[in-house]
Amino acid sequence: MELGAEFTKGEVKNLKDLNANVIVSAAGCWTNELLKDIPVFPQKHTVFRVKCPKHVPDMPLTGDLTTGIYWRPEGKEYLAGSPISKWDCDELEPEWNDFEELVWPGLAKRIPAFEELKLTGGWAGYYDTNKLDNNAIVGKHPAYDNVYLATGFTGRGLMQSPGIGRGLTELITTGSYQTIDLNCFGVERVLNKKERIEPYVL
Ligand SMILES: Cc1cc2nc3c(=O)[nH]c(=O)nc-3n(C[C@H](O)[C@H](O)[C@H](O)COP(=O)(O)OP(=O)(O)OC[C@H]3O[C@@H](n4cnc5c(N)ncnc54)[C@H](O)[C@@H]3O)c2cc1C
Repeated sequence: MELGAEFTKGEVKNLKDLNANVIVSAAGCWTNELLKDIPVFPQKHTVFRVKCPKHVPDMPLTGDLTTGIYWRPEGKEYLAGSPISKWDCDELEPEWNDFEELVWPGLAKRIPAFEELKLTGGWAGYYDTNKLDNNAIVGKHPAYDNVYLATGFTGRGLMQSPGIGRGLTELITTGSYQTIDLNCFGVERVLNKKERIEPYVL
């Protein structure tokens, strides 16, 4: 904005309404509402906060790929994700039953100290899920002169954002990727249904 850019706030109904040389569409799980050919949709996921008398602060982020449950320390507690996700959900009440039925037994099976867990909280949100292959969609949209995408991270957008931001900046300002080659996440792959499947979505 110091450089004179205009800031406007509000819902974009159609990308063609925007008068800009370059548009980066980063609409997350709502991407398909703006771009009907991009299969990114909201998928509800629940995360629980738990406390355990035996705390291991340097426990790494760990995923049990046999159950889809993951956990990591969060302050003096832990976060643990439910393996169950839901499509077409217009409410975000956490799926509390998943804790007793799936997450707690799954955690205790791997780490016996977790048998003494206490549930202290939880929340649910929408993953920005790419239904084609669970992977990011990054780069120029071939049907537009000025539209670039950064979407479809399928629950990994925070981790991937530094590299995506850098790569996309390079693509827009120089015409090609310079330090990080993100071509494998290109928009054409999605339009041509050439999957680059991520099998594990935690
Ligand atoms: C429970 C849960 C746990 C997660 N855990 C992790 C994790 O541990 N690590 C990790 O890396 N990622 C995690 N994620 C995923 C991560 O949050 C997302 O991948 C990331 O937020 C995507 O960022 P984004 O900027 O692309 O989209 P968003 O953060 O969703 O932002 C999209 C923005 O676009 C706006 N928008 C959409 N449509 C329009 C429109 N038509 N007009 C105007 N504005 C519009 C929205 O209002 C929103 O502000 C988690 C997600 C959930 C739900």
